[in-house]
Amino acid sequence: MPDVIIYFGPLEFAALVFGLVALAAAAVLYRGHRRRRAEVQHLLDGFSFPAMLFRADKLSARNTDGAAFAEAIELEGIVDDSRRTGRTIVRTIPAVEGQSYQARAIRLSKDDTLLLLEDLAAAQRQQAFYRNFIQNVSHELKTPLTVIQGHASKMAEASEDPQSVSASRRIISDEAKRLTQLVDNLLTLARLESPSFSLDRSPLNFSALLEECILQLSDMAEAHRVALTMDVASGLPRLNGDRARLKQVVLNLLDNALKYTPAGGTVSMSLSDDPESQSLVCWIQDTGEGIPEEDLPHIFDKLYRARRARSLPVEGSGLGLTIAQQIIRAHGGEVGVRSELGKGSTFTFTLPYGGGPAG
Ligand code: ADP
Repeated sequence: MPDVIIYFGPLEFAALVFGLVALAAAAVLYRGHRRRRAEVQHLLDGFSFPAMLFRADKLSARNTDGAAFAEAIELEGIVDDSRRTGRTIVRTIPAVEGQSYQARAIRLSKDDTLLLLEDLAAAQRQQAFYRNFIQNVSHELKTPLTVIQGHASKMAEASEDPQSVSASRRIISDEAKRLTQLVDNLLTLARLESPSFSLDRSPLNFSALLEECILQLSDMAEAHRVALTMDVASGLPRLNGDRARLKQVVLNLLDNALKYTPAGGTVSMSLSDDPESQSLVCWIQDTGEGIPEEDLPHIFDKLYRARRARSLPVEGSGLGLTIAQQIIRAHGGEVGVRSELGKGSTFTFTLPYGGGPAG
């Protein structure tokens, strides 16, 4: 067998070095390309409506909602117009599966165009919801303001009558408190709904938290002449939760139960473990006026107050239950209600101690 001689001179060495450098550069470029793709995908996934990225005139990435539009030819025309003119193009596109969309093509660079599709009906629904919400808030703010204004004038007119002045002063103070509570609740809700909201979780003994709430409201219960009781199972697991927020939930529910229960009634709270769902279950039961059946599906809506309660002189903003529900859901739990008119209501909520969503 003849010997094979491999000659490895300076030229071959240079070629090897060049090859290795080229390979390393390709790897870096490839990694950069993959990272950019991942970043683009992350950006697109962040939109709650169809979003796509076009490279030249070809669709190069999209989020899940964008799948239904991958074949829509009219979109290519909008992208093309944006690329040619270098401007953002906004155009309504014909109904897709019965829905009208507004397409917005934004030229990001010479080659890249971002295309966003907004569901017009959903946008209109949202606008109507906010118009309605602003109207309700304005109404809730205007009522106490009108009362305050009325009594301020009355005080000026009847300054010689100390009884009338003192009554007006008391009413003004009560209405101002109501206004403050309403504004506080609105701010809390805005914070809870903000995308940057997160729970401040720590391990906590929920039974101890309930005891604190009972203690805090015992004067109110006494003043209303309503018995306030608590029954907690022993050896309950600890919970990883936001102490201040959860206390707000329990206080809201107990406060409602006391407000809507006439003298001589009972409000009882209990806490137990549901090992199957790995959750603590809390009940707040009252023997109060109950909630009309037709109002039950709405009582968790913002600013909703059941008709019965509205006709009674019971203070409230109609935001307490909305806030309670949002906080419990943020902990991965759920709030429920059962009620019978004239007999009372039972509010329940669950709090997973196993693996609720990270907050
Ligand atoms: P509010 O500040 O008016 O109490 P909430 O959001 O806490 O607002 O409650 C919404 C409505 O649900 C109340 O206005 C009332 O009609 C009804 N409600 C809540 N809890 C009770 C209860 N324990 N008994 C009777 N009605 C209740």
